[in-house]
Amino acid sequence: MIKLHPNSQQLSEFAQGQCDSGVALIIAAHTDMCRQCKQKLTLIEAELAREAMAEKSSPDPAFDTMLANILQMPAASGIEVSYKQKKLELDGKEFVLPRSLQRYADKINGWSHLPGKLWQARVDLGIDGRADFTYMEKGGSVPEHTHRGTELTLVLDGEFSDGIRNYDTGDFIERSCDHVHTPHTEADEGCLVFSILDKPLHFTSGIARLLNPFSQLFFK
Ligand SMILES: [Zn+2]
Repeated sequence: MIKLHPNSQQLSEFAQGQCDSGVALIIAAHTDMCRQCKQKLTLIEAELAREAMAEKSSPDPAFDTMLANILQMPAASGIEVSYKQKKLELDGKEFVLPRSLQRYADKINGWSHLPGKLWQARVDLGIDGRADFTYMEKGGSVPEHTHRGTELTLVLDGEFSDGIRNYDTGDFIERSCDHVHTPHTEADEGCLVFSILDKPLHFTSGIARLLNPFSQLFFK
């Protein structure tokens, strides 16, 4: 069950096209998976439309009636536009991606198998910072680290814990330099996440600290 969602301000900025493209992508992908946020977004968009119309100088009753009718239409009609599903393949496993991420399945330049039962595939979004699919096998973990910037993560499949709490499929996770965490999973099916990071990770403990000078290379 999804417990973590983008906040109202993030959804509002998304609806107004004010987010960075990486942030917009991950919010769009979450919204593909989350009925609650999809409905919230519909309401925000309706409100924005209403505000835009209120700014019109000359009232047009026919137009207002048409708009009112549109706004009263049910938010979720149950009709899904069909699209060709692309699956992400890794080590004999297949994952269905949210619609907004589908087109990136082809843009992966292969998976890197990293220590800690981790697989990572970088996605070139043509933006600052970086975007990755990361898959943790059962028993896999990322060395304890903090962030110099902000890390947004969307759980695409499976579940994991980071010593702070547990995360489930669909959860939208925001982590900043205030958080030190150690993601790991004990789920049989492992865990696939998509993340956007604006600065390199900073490892804080054990042997992984030695990675810091290389974290730009290793995790970038
Ligand atoms: Zn949501």
